[in-house]
Amino acid sequence: MHMIDAIGYAAKHSFSRLKRHEFQREDPKEHEVVIDVMFCGVCHSDVHQVKNEWSNTIYPCMPGHEVVGRVASMGPAVQQFSMGDIVAVGCMIDSCRTCEPCRKGEENYCEGPNSWLATYNGPMVPASKAPTGDNMYGRDNTFGGYSNVLVVHEDFVIPIPGKLSPAAAAPIVCAGVTTYSPMKEWGVGPGHRVGIVGYGGLGHMATKIALALGAEVTVFSSSTEKVAELVAAGQVAVHEGDLERLAALASGFDFILSTIPEKHDVNPFVLLLKHDGVLCVVGALEPLAPVNNQAIAFQRRRVSGSLIGSIAETKEVLAFCAEHDIAPEIEIIPIQQINDAYGKVQSGEVRYRYVIDMSTLMTDDVS
Ligand SMILES: [Zn+2]
Ligand SMILES: [Zn+2]
Repeated sequence: MHMIDAIGYAAKHSFSRLKRHEFQREDPKEHEVVIDVMFCGVCHSDVHQVKNEWSNTIYPCMPGHEVVGRVASMGPAVQQFSMGDIVAVGCMIDSCRTCEPCRKGEENYCEGPNSWLATYNGPMVPASKAPTGDNMYGRDNTFGGYSNVLVVHEDFVIPIPGKLSPAAAAPIVCAGVTTYSPMKEWGVGPGHRVGIVGYGGLGHMATKIALALGAEVTVFSSSTEKVAELVAAGQVAVHEGDLERLAALASGFDFILSTIPEKHDVNPFVLLLKHDGVLCVVGALEPLAPVNNQAIAFQRRRVSGSLIGSIAETKEVLAFCAEHDIAPEIEIIPIQQINDAYGKVQSGEVRYRYVIDMSTLMTDDVS
């Protein structure tokens, strides 16, 4: 079989830095699209995955699931795209397509034996953990968008509305849809009081989307600096440690979205929900501090979680952002700065999303 020579940046171990990595991708099958990668967003999950913080990383690990590029070639049966189209690839590149969530267009909750195939790090459920002991996708590891080329089935390739700049569109396909999906699920709309907890890559997109949906938004952050910046810009923002302000806001919110990317205590935010209000956690994929069910039961409050978004929702949020003229605040970096960027993602210094200009791969000093 002919293969495509590819280059990217990958980590060999949990303790190693990302470095140039040469590899091969398979030629496109009938329905697959070859995408020359232009930009790739740097998601907090990339950092978790590279450092094996979810204990499931397959090495070498080449992250990147906020990918935007140009269609460079394709299999003979591709119908949805043409050469030169600007397209995106988010967190998923395939799913079982037959389970109930897949049939409902909710591939992100695929219940197939290996769940969905992630853009990097292989299937969500590896063969060793699958009930069948097999891997239906035939690929244990997958290499993501920190590379010059991707090959993806057309059903998982997403067109980008012409109004959006390709670099700014990249974070919308993870950070954007991850926050849009639960707001849509829980019916956030005009007049709703919405709280956004954490103001990083996800939080800043969530705030823009909630405002565009017509909600009244309060941001909660542990950063004094970010609270001051937001207030200066006319946004209602409260420091998480300001117990007086929190007490005054008790039972006031219809919906609260927690975007904090690590273990945290949701109890102070549960108290801010109205009767029947919903708190949804999207940032942390790990056990949280115990939740006080008295506070939940007494007002029939709901605590929930949500995982990325479907392909249909990804198309929808891109159209929504184009229509409402919203885009993430990004800083474009060369791939050579990726390891420093990871440090700044972890420390919260990033304002608010790094996007890698993948053309800089070509300027690597390989001597
Ligand atoms: Zn992500
Ligand atoms: Zn499925």
